[in-house]
Amino acid sequence: MSILVFAEIQDGKVKKSSLEAVSYAKQMNAGTIHAVALGNADNSALAELAKYGANQIHHSAAFTTFDSTTYAAAIAEAANACGAKWVIISNTYTGKSVAPRVAVRLKAAIASGVVSIPEASGSNWVVRKSCFSGKGFANISLNSDVRVLALTPNSFSLTEAAGAGEIVALNPASVENKTTSVEIKRVTGKIPLTEAELVVSGGRGMKGPENWGMIEELAQVLGAATACSKPVSDMHWRTHEEHVGQTGITIKPNLYIATGISGAIQHLAGVSSSKVIVAINKDPEAPFFKIADYGIVGDAFEVLPQLIEAAKKFKSQAN
Ligand SMILES: Cc1cc2nc3c(=O)[nH]c(=O)nc-3n(C[C@H](O)[C@H](O)[C@H](O)COP(=O)(O)OP(=O)(O)OC[C@H]3O[C@@H](n4cnc5c(N)ncnc54)[C@H](O)[C@@H]3O)c2cc1C
Repeated sequence: MSILVFAEIQDGKVKKSSLEAVSYAKQMNAGTIHAVALGNADNSALAELAKYGANQIHHSAAFTTFDSTTYAAAIAEAANACGAKWVIISNTYTGKSVAPRVAVRLKAAIASGVVSIPEASGSNWVVRKSCFSGKGFANISLNSDVRVLALTPNSFSLTEAAGAGEIVALNPASVENKTTSVEIKRVTGKIPLTEAELVVSGGRGMKGPENWGMIEELAQVLGAATACSKPVSDMHWRTHEEHVGQTGITIKPNLYIATGISGAIQHLAGVSSSKVIVAINKDPEAPFFKIADYGIVGDAFEVLPQLIEAAKKFKSQAN
């Protein structure tokens, strides 16, 4: 039996969420681990997949831009070629558009937002997935011969477990895109929010975009990404890529620092799965304090400079 992991390539490197997917596949202990990587990446970048347990890496550099249809066709082709009973995909933007298409092509059952290792239940397999914007969990029973799982990023730790990592050329039947990207605008020099382990976020309590220097400085010292509440992006204080919540991005970092954010249910929908939450708010009754692991009642404009100083001191002592 074998498992196929779809490894996303970005800027010639394998994304961290895909390495998590390989670690996950290793934990499943369900046979040989194959990875399929589409796009330009050299052998040393692909070798990362072997570090976490991939036995064989099917690579094609012919894919220059992302197209969900051609990607799904190539992944399904690779799954058929290696006889995969499981296809593991990370539930990123790319993964979300690819996974259902792969499932259709393979006539496979699919579970997305997966947060557990599958367990056998009679002839079926049961996995846990998060639902209702992270407020609940559902156990999904999969009864097909081939199964597709789309994992919630940051749900599974990276565990090194060397695999053979043999790189083999993948020659897909077609790489002809059905859609064409007219323009791709990339935010550079920043930690991508969906990949970030630490996030510093600001809300309307920050009063205006001119005060975001403090949020950015704390993020920079901690090595964190920045995020914001919906009104902040609606007022164009920050770009919409930073908007987290029910109508924005759902994140699951190890640490989420919410500054001047009330903690409305729609905001919490996108951040409540964070492992540790710190809320900074001058109102002791702010709803965020009900779910925060640590709460600081105080004025953000006094608290943030102190946090920045403390973080700098801690880092200089650690070095
Ligand atoms: C259908 C729908 C979908 C939505 N989706 C989202 C979503 O995805 N994401 C999202 O964020 N919101 C979403 N919202 C909006 C949501 O309901 C809240 O209105 C929003 O989250 C509030 O943003 P905020 O906490 O930044 O602002 P506010 O509610 O104005 O809260 C500001 C907070 O800052 C505190 N504060 C003020 N000054 C300071 C200071 N100097 N120091 C420290 N604290 C201070 C205040 O005490 C207050 O708690 C949605 C709403 C609807 C109806």
